Amino acid sequence: MLEEILSARDCARCEFCCSFRRQSLNLTPYFAPETLEEIQRLYPEAKFKSLPGRAVTIDLDDKYSTDDENEEALCPFNRKGCILPEHLKPFDCKLWPFRLMKKGGSLVLALVPSCPWIKKDDMSKLKEVALSVAHEAIKYSKTHPEIIIEYRDDYQIIIEP
Ligand code: SF4
Ligand code: SF4
Repeated sequence: MLEEILSARDCARCEFCCSFRRQSLNLTPYFAPETLEEIQRLYPEAKFKSLPGRAVTIDLDDKYSTDDENEEALCPFNRKGCILPEHLKPFDCKLWPFRLMKKGGSLVLALVPSCPWIKKDDMSKLKEVALSVAHEAIKYSKTHPEIIIEYRDDYQIIIEP
């Protein structure tokens, strides 16, 4: 369904959403705690760090070679595409280019500001795609509330599921 709003050809030449600045608009993904043991067994070189709450993300600190805050570091699981099997892939990455966000007392599914190729002109199509993933996102967030992040103005609200 995603191909209706994103061309695979544009995506294949981009990799932007798997690259992160130190202060990135595009947040590093949260890994489900129950997947970490298997990921570390398969990829012992991968480093993670814990954030407030239950969130665990990739630790890219030693991937930057300069002090330039615009330097990008590629997620270690991207080797010309994501190498993680589907059951170990962070839900954030599966939900991309949407994020589940909290705005006031409501949950919203919003479009990330940073994908350069997403087709934003067809709102009904964006809503249709967002609706197709909303149920799974809400279900996952019941056991992994860390995927719900505070709303930021640069995100575009697509639906309030
Ligand atoms: S930022 Fe958008 S176009 Fe680029 S790889 Fe990610 S989803 Fe594809
Ligand atoms: S886990 Fe996979 S999809 Fe997610 S940022 Fe890393 S390489 Fe990209």
